[in-house]
Formats: sequence, C-alpha cells, structure tokens
Amino acid sequence: SVVLVLGSGGREHALAVALAASPAVSSVLVAPGNAGTHITPNVTNISLNFKDHQAVIEACRQKNVSVVVVGPEDPLADGLANSLTTAGIKVFGPTKEAAQIESSKAWAKDFMVRHEVPTAAYRTFTDAQKAKDFIKTETWAGYVVKASGLAAGKGVVVTDSCIAAIEAVDTVCKNFGAAGETIIIEELLGGEEISVLCFTDGNTVTVMPPAQDHKRLQEGDQGPNTGGMGAYCPCPLVSQQELQTIKETILVKTVRVLYAGLMITSSGPKVLEFNCRFGDPETQVLLPLLLSDFYDIILGCVEGRLSEVPVKFDEKNTCVAVCLVSGGYPGSYPKGKPITGLSDVCEEAGVQVYHAGTKLDGKRLVTSGGRVLAVAVTDPSLVTAVAKATMTASRVMFDGVFFRRDIAAKAIARYAV
Ligand code: ATP
Repeated sequence: SVVLVLGSGGREHALAVALAASPAVSSVLVAPGNAGTHITPNVTNISLNFKDHQAVIEACRQKNVSVVVVGPEDPLADGLANSLTTAGIKVFGPTKEAAQIESSKAWAKDFMVRHEVPTAAYRTFTDAQKAKDFIKTETWAGYVVKASGLAAGKGVVVTDSCIAAIEAVDTVCKNFGAAGETIIIEELLGGEEISVLCFTDGNTVTVMPPAQDHKRLQEGDQGPNTGGMGAYCPCPLVSQQELQTIKETILVKTVRVLYAGLMITSSGPKVLEFNCRFGDPETQVLLPLLLSDFYDIILGCVEGRLSEVPVKFDEKNTCVAVCLVSGGYPGSYPKGKPITGLSDVCEEAGVQVYHAGTKLDGKRLVTSGGRVLAVAVTDPSLVTAVAKATMTASRVMFDGVFFRRDIAAKAIARYAV
C-alpha cells in the first residue's frame, strides 16, 4: 500500500518511519517533508498544496494512495478530512466539525462543560473591556488569557498578576487576528502538565502511555513557550490508576478526539487543551516504543475496527527526545546553517534522529526552521536514556544550536528511575 503523510516536522518524520516499517506498506509519500524524510528508505517527498483539496484528491488517485495521515491541525480545521472522505479517500484525522475541539478553544471549553469533563474555570468574551472587568472581579491565584482560535501555541499568556492579565487581553486581541476575536480568561492551574494521546475509531478508545513535553525554552522550565523542547515517555508522574481515571472521565467522553493535554492538579486531572492529531514532540517518543504495526492501527481507526487491532507498547523501555533548535528560536532565527556530526550519531543502536527544520542544499544538510532535529533515545533506564540523548545531541553541530539538558529531570528527581 501507498500512504501519504501531510506535514514537514519531526512528528511527520516519526510517522513516516513508523509507517514505512509496516510490511503492508510499499511506500510512504510525505508532503512536503524534510531532509530526514527524503533520506528515509521507502519514503519520498512530494510537493502538494494542501489548501487545494482537489489537488490532494487528484494526487491520491494518481499515486494510488490507500490512506492519508494528516500531521498538523490546520488542514483538519480547514476540512481536508471532509473533502477526502467525500471523494472516497481514507483519511486518518477528524472532520472539520470534530477538529473544533482544537481549532476553537471556546467551543472546546463549552464542550467540556456540557459533557462534565474536568477543566479549569473560565469565561469567554468577545468584548475586551468586559474581559478586563471580569479579571478585576476574579480573585484567582493566577490568570490565563487565551485566543480562542489557532495561534500555533503562541496565543496564550499565563500570569499570576491581575495587571499583567489585563494587559494581555489587548495583546491577544490585537496580535492574533480572527483567532483572537474570541478570548478566554481561565483560572491558573497548578500541577504537573502531561500529554495523553489515544487512538480512536469513534467508538473504541486505546490510550497510549503518558508522555511529558517541555514547552519552555530554558532549563528549569524558564523562558518563553515553544513548540516543545523535548519529551519523554512513559511519564511516571501519572499512575496507572490516574490513567484509568483520565480514560474514563475525559477520553471516552471525547471519543472523536485524539489527544488531550492535561494538568494533574491536587483535585485530579484537568484538561488544559485538546488536540485532534498527534503531538509534536510526543510522537517522537511514543512511536519508537510502539511494538504493533502502526499501519494496521491507522487503518483500524479509519475503518472503525480498532477493537480488532493489537496496540502494544514496549513496557520495558523508555524513550527520551531532545530537540535541537536554532539560536533565537522561538523568536526570529537564521536559516541555511550547515549541520554536521549527524552521520556517526545515526549509526548508534537505540538512537533515532528525527528531522524537523532541515533541508538539503545540494549535498549539504542545512537548517531551515526553528526546531531543527530531535534526538530520540530508547533505553530501559530513563536516567541512561536522558544522559545518552543529551550527550548525542551535543555531538550534532550547527551555528547557534541550542537544546535543553534537563529533559525528564522532574521525573528523575521524584522517582530516581
Ligand atoms: P499548544 O498547542 O502549544 O499546546 P495552545 O496555544 O493550544 O498551545 P494551551 O495548550 O491551551 O494553548 O496553553 C499553552 C500552555 O499554557 C499550556 O501548555 C500550559 O503550559 C499553559 N496553560 C494553559 N492553560 C493553563 C491553565 N489553566 N493553568 C496553567 N497553565 C495553563
């Protein structure tokens, strides 16, 4: 079978590698992909404008694609899954209507209240002045001001100051166009933030092991929010019992949704946000631990027979990913910097390098984005996996390279695993 993966990040490289490993898959096409997908055996990059749904449909027919796997949220929010399904093409990813759980935070919050899914207290506003007045009257420990629409992880301001929250209302309204027309004022939650992804066919829910992302740029969770600086899986900060509660009180109620970002608070797990697709960089630590055939699972989800498909993760190993980013990220950063030191690293057992912002300039591998690479290491010990991932990351060079050396530090400190 031929599979088409849409997207260009580390997540899509991981999806392509896992799909290409299936004996049932003859080739994986990635649009547009990156230098990592380009050099992966049985994987080919193609160019495709996924805003043009008809062009995607035609490419699928021409290349005999059996299923499309959509990486990022934008095409889903834009209804690509609807168009493909109408054209009779199988797609792994929700409809535009279901994707609202991610594309409209106001819709997601109302959905959670309607279905009694635990989440932070909130109010929704379309009038900035009313939002500010509300902040003045609310005496929460802290405030989160969010643009309701998609803002690539940048439309959220978290603060414990009432004055800063009031200021943030204007910033969020002004800087995010239509995404900021509706804003949400939310109570600040305290606790450990974790990601629980699940497969679903709309009926069966199969929960993956919990992962923890590291969103802040600097060590010790300081500095600005990023797309994610690293992740590890499984995350021991969630007990089996808590995972069962999350499945029952959140995921099963929300079966059309693929992924929930949660805060484990002193009063139990609460949803911070839903995502309707694989997380990045969570995918890069989940898929190396997947023992079952990924293509079978994807087809099981798409064809409504997930309950018949085995989904087994390696319980003896952990996986840690360290993201290497360009100097200046998440602000502006230079591109086109030559990357060296990768060839030795890629040969090592238990090491998988996922590309994100990379491209080939002739034969030279160069940077082309903020997040450039993720070094993922699989090992039975979390301590060893982190040490090896950090050491391996330091052997990869490009001008201005930066990465965090404290991925999973909290789990290690708490559990000495
Ligand atoms: P992303 O897609 O990058 O996760 P997003 O724009 O969809 O971001 P959220 O996930 O809702 O936005 O919020 C971004 C981050 O802000 C969260 O990962 C979390 O760290 C913090 N955050 C959001 N809501 C709260 C809250 N109620 N209490 C504490 N922190 C919060």
